[in-house]
Amino acid sequence: MIIDCHGHYTTAPRALNDYRARQVALLDEPGAPALSPDVRISDDEIRDSLEPHQIATQRLRGVDMTIFSPMAGAMAHHVGNAVTSRHWAQACNDLIHRVTRLYPREFAGVCQLPQSPRSGMAECVAELERCVNGMGFVGCNINPDPSDGYWTDPPMTDRYWYPLYEKMVELDVPGMVHVSCSCNPNFHHTGAHYLNGDTAAFMQFVLSDLFRDFPTLRFVIPHGGGAVPYHWGRYRGLALQLGRPPMEDLLRNVFFDTCVYHQPGIDLLLKVIPADNVLFASEIFGAVKGVDPETGFPFDDTRRYVDAVQGVSDAERHLLFERNARRVYPRLDALLRAQGR
Ligand SMILES: [Zn+2]
Repeated sequence: MIIDCHGHYTTAPRALNDYRARQVALLDEPGAPALSPDVRISDDEIRDSLEPHQIATQRLRGVDMTIFSPMAGAMAHHVGNAVTSRHWAQACNDLIHRVTRLYPREFAGVCQLPQSPRSGMAECVAELERCVNGMGFVGCNINPDPSDGYWTDPPMTDRYWYPLYEKMVELDVPGMVHVSCSCNPNFHHTGAHYLNGDTAAFMQFVLSDLFRDFPTLRFVIPHGGGAVPYHWGRYRGLALQLGRPPMEDLLRNVFFDTCVYHQPGIDLLLKVIPADNVLFASEIFGAVKGVDPETGFPFDDTRRYVDAVQGVSDAERHLLFERNARRVYPRLDALLRAQGR
């Protein structure tokens, strides 16, 4: 099987964004009550939004299953307050749930969390439980910077986050470290903020004893791990210098995906990071659309790069494409087994 562990519903029907616009508009009206989700979308609209886009591309590239979550750039956790984020996350996650009901063999759900700056984890814990126990989701996306570009919340390794991690461990679901939009004009969202977020989270893990407290907690760092594989020597050196455990210890809990959009980048990723710790992903339709004029193929067609890497055995490719995803997302494995796959 080929499992893509990182896809977003960026082609969701317009009614979802219409709801968001109405929800946000009400924030400017003093005394107006919060607008609970009232999104009305038919099954056919969902099919039409996926068949010619995500599903057609998956089939073309031979991807059997995508771990699918709401559009990351639209999470916008800085907007409004905790109630705003709760309603918006519910609306987005309910729609992902409907996708997984309509296409159970093509999609497994990962939820958006109702994070809000300095608002604690109670809302996130409740939504994670609702999505995993109530709707069969297999993981969550965690935004390390709910302020969307200003990094005002504590590091991901702070005890502030522990209630969420306790619930993730209890439910045995991993989290993908995934920022949202950037309100800071210094950081382009997908070109800088995303990669900064990946890199920043990794260094936080290097510096902390988080995984001593949560030995089974698992994170996937997307976009090939930001700058991490390229600067692996720097992290190893810093760990030595700072008296931290070796990198190998972190690799029990931290995984990387293959959302890197050129061959040399994927070559490097797979040369530096053990095959046990890399999960196939392409992030369609997401950060970079369009065709690379140098190759004639879409930038985000990461399967081509993974297929073309030299020095990776068939057994290792099987890990990258299937086994690792089933191991890191045990609920996905259970779901696939129930389908006889
Ligand atoms: Zn993404």
